Amino acid sequence: MSAPVIDLHTHSNASDGTEAPAQLVRSAAQAGLDVVAITDHDTVVGWDEAAAAAAEYGIALVRGIEVSCSFGEAGVHLLGYLTDPQAPGLMGELARARESRATRLERMVERMAADRIPVTIEQVRAQVAPGATPGRPHIADALVASGTIAHRDEAFREWLSDDSPYYVGHYSPHPVRATELIREAGGVAVIAHPFTRTRIDTVTDELVARMVEAGLTGLEAHHRDHGVAQVEHCRRLAAEHGLVLTGSSDYHGTGKRNRLAENTTTPESLAAIEAAATGPTRVLRP
Ligand code: AMP
Ligand code: FE
Ligand code: FE
Ligand code: ZN
Repeated sequence: MSAPVIDLHTHSNASDGTEAPAQLVRSAAQAGLDVVAITDHDTVVGWDEAAAAAAEYGIALVRGIEVSCSFGEAGVHLLGYLTDPQAPGLMGELARARESRATRLERMVERMAADRIPVTIEQVRAQVAPGATPGRPHIADALVASGTIAHRDEAFREWLSDDSPYYVGHYSPHPVRATELIREAGGVAVIAHPFTRTRIDTVTDELVARMVEAGLTGLEAHHRDHGVAQVEHCRRLAAEHGLVLTGSSDYHGTGKRNRLAENTTTPESLAAIEAAATGPTRVLRP
């Protein structure tokens, strides 16, 4: 028997992916995955639909979230696996972030419209599935739908980047606090693409050390935003702190070029994640 194919980071249209949760799980099964995690930004709203589809298509499902955190000016994404979806602390924080995301998109669209970029908040809202977490990709989708641009990428290059004049931030927890909340919810915290090659290195070694104290379990080392140096940096930190390394696609359907299972996680790393979970949420197996 060949090794199981495990991809622990994907998005559905419960946030900024383009496939409904059931379709995402179906795509994962069709791509030959044995285990897939659904990790939408700041929400668990896709979990039940994904769970039903996982049973139908015979694939194991890890229910997770990707929490947007801020650390000074920088954004840090924190994956939370197997959290209790009823945990008040974590769920309260995510609800606050989602509300702030909605008003923040309004402000971004106002700034863009003032500069004659042809987009309205109604057009943006039409791109957000009911109950989903709104994000910048939905502004991009509105511009694609109106024929202004051909792909999300273009909108990010022209208007939506973190250093764009149209950029408006939203409420998000500190990564140390988010780690604590994930642990309190019985879940397992793994930093997503910690060294994504952006303007500034977002995650410092000191921050990782503080997150380890708060209960951090792992680092997503293998990700298309990491080169050899970034993977090596993850390995060094993992050796120092006893962290688990993962690899994942960060699939967003047609919203990004990332393909399912382009990076994968070992069965040993998944076992370590499962062993670290302390709450009622378990990996679902067919
Ligand atoms: P937000 O959560 O609103 O801050 O938006 C960030 C999201 O935008 C990330 O989760 C990415 O999925 C997406 N994103 C960032 N850059 C790009 C890009 N160049 N093309 C498509 N999506 C992107
Ligand atoms: Fe995203
Ligand atoms: Fe991310
Ligand atoms: Zn992601």
